[in-house]
Amino acid sequence: MALIVQKYGGTSVGSVERIQAVAQRVYKTVKAGNSLVVVVSAMGKTTDGLVKLANEISLNPNRREMDMLLSTGEQVTIALLSMALQELGQPAISMTGAQVGIVTEAEYSRARILHIETTRISRHINAGKVVVVAGFQGISSAGEMEITTLGRGGSDTSAVAIAAALRANFCEIYTDVPGILTTDPRLVAEAQLMDAITCNEMLELASLGAKVLHPRAVEIARNYGVPLVVRSSWTDAPGTWVTSAKPQGRSLINLEIARPVDNVEFDTDQAKVALLRVPDKPGVAARLFGEISRQKVDVDLIIQSVHEGNSNDIAFTVTTPILKRAEAVAAAIAPALRNQSNPKSDEAEVMVEHNIAKVSIAGAGMIGRPGVAAKMFATLAEAGVNIQMISTSEVKVSCVVDAAECDRAVSALRSAFEIEAGEEGTRGQGGQGGRIIEDNSPLSSPSPFSPLSSSSPPVRGVALDLNQARLAIRQLPDRPGMAAKLFGLLAKHNISVDMIIQSQRCRVIDGVPRRDIAFTVSRIDGESAKEMLTQVAAELGWGEVVLDSAIAKVSIVGAGMVGQPGVAAKMFEALAEHQINIQMIATSEIKISCVVAQEQGVKALQAIHAAFELAGSEKFVVPA
Ligand code: ADP
Ligand code: ASP
Ligand code: MG
Repeated sequence: MALIVQKYGGTSVGSVERIQAVAQRVYKTVKAGNSLVVVVSAMGKTTDGLVKLANEISLNPNRREMDMLLSTGEQVTIALLSMALQELGQPAISMTGAQVGIVTEAEYSRARILHIETTRISRHINAGKVVVVAGFQGISSAGEMEITTLGRGGSDTSAVAIAAALRANFCEIYTDVPGILTTDPRLVAEAQLMDAITCNEMLELASLGAKVLHPRAVEIARNYGVPLVVRSSWTDAPGTWVTSAKPQGRSLINLEIARPVDNVEFDTDQAKVALLRVPDKPGVAARLFGEISRQKVDVDLIIQSVHEGNSNDIAFTVTTPILKRAEAVAAAIAPALRNQSNPKSDEAEVMVEHNIAKVSIAGAGMIGRPGVAAKMFATLAEAGVNIQMISTSEVKVSCVVDAAECDRAVSALRSAFEIEAGEEGTRGQGGQGGRIIEDNSPLSSPSPFSPLSSSSPPVRGVALDLNQARLAIRQLPDRPGMAAKLFGLLAKHNISVDMIIQSQRCRVIDGVPRRDIAFTVSRIDGESAKEMLTQVAAELGWGEVVLDSAIAKVSIVGAGMVGQPGVAAKMFEALAEHQINIQMIATSEIKISCVVAQEQGVKALQAIHAAFELAGSEKFVVPA
């Protein structure tokens, strides 16, 4: 007999018939000898409807009242599903987040779970009842008893957290698609179903816009080793397992806020090649990285940012042994990269930096927890280390620094994040290929798992995020501590940041060397971030803050792209073929993201999905 947590999303409980169908499935699972906790979402588009109602009354509704309102959606479903189960003769009881004791921070609209009381749920289970719990909601601790919500899509997080707290055998997420697909089937009908995906890959996909799972749910599954499967509530097909490495034996106290960083890693065998002043038009990155991959050069980090209108900087890192080859390719291609709109302009300039190192913090939920990257930058600033390049992802934040400062950076980070020296995490010195990879191995997870094939495909999935905005800050002084100040400020306001790109060109203004910096945030945070950063511009000595909300972020994710030259080139070539201009490029070890114009987002996603031959022969029809 197993203890199972099942979660049913909005469409799966969108009507009385659907609730009855869910009750049947729950009933069957119990009859097969299992104990069940069922977490449900609000029916259909109820939550959207409630948001709309609030916006009819206020453009800026009070966040406490918003949580009070949105939490009602799930309460309807728990009561109806319990009734449907009771009609089948199955004892059941509905419980709100507060009744269970899903204790969260006192933070409205995106509260994190601190801990979950298990006594009440367990008592009902032991009495033979199915416990039906309202997803997406909790209650703040410290005697306040405030109703909180976990953020849109948060019922997944409730379910996995309950599974972790109860030490359930596994957690099933039932939804309107047959599992996790290579991309959103609403945008690419030929998207293919996967049997399994690693937690780290899924974390990236989820945070890059694949809404099939809430990133925080994947983070909890990873941290606590909860076996997790995504399945269709319409069929009995097996779905997709999200596989985690060994559970880490974590405490269930401070469930979502404890120790975000597991490791400090470094790699001193790195060099950087930058091309300055390349034209801002489709095909440039494709040409450069196409040639680089033909020379079998494996690049590690790649960044590209728009710089003052019509020309870009592209920079990439490689391991030292292949630097000569990478430099030769860049030098050979530079003369051809002349700004067409200004034929008299200089050709692109190649700049090589030999003695650099990459230091990284690894864990889960880095983007979702803006304070973590900010703490890394502050720690480096305190140690007097200047940051040359930044790479962010849900599972890792890396900074490229001067090699001479690597030891100092690593020991400062170890002590800041309480990682003992000698703990695993010093890999990556030398090594073959620039990339270091963590969770690429087939899993050590408990059954029931369909194991991953031992060779991961270079690209497992493609994601599109149309809810992003880009902020650029002009003329930021180039000295230790600026990134810490900037991202510390954003973190204080709980604003998550991704794709942080500093320009390679440095300009001296008023005797101070300066660079531009650009990054992406959620669109809803765009205006307030701009306002906040403009307010402190004079005090912190930076220039204009520019906001662009008409962007799309398209990303590829795959643990198998490590050590595979040519993956980036293929992505850029697919975009070039469709005349899609790349505005920004940022990579981490298992993902590559490009910012393109908003109206080209869907086309970009489709082009990339096709280029990596991810399409299947079957077409998906998503239930309405
Ligand atoms: P639920 O209400 O069950 O939580 P969601 O709407 O939150 O469902 O998530 C399921 C939806 O996620 C699918 O209908 C699909 O459109 C979308 N989706 C985006 N990317 C993917 C992907 N890679 N695989 C499967 N579904 C995806
Ligand atoms: N009902 C909430 C939402 O629509 C939570 C969820 O469905 O996961 O965002
Ligand atoms: Mg969802």
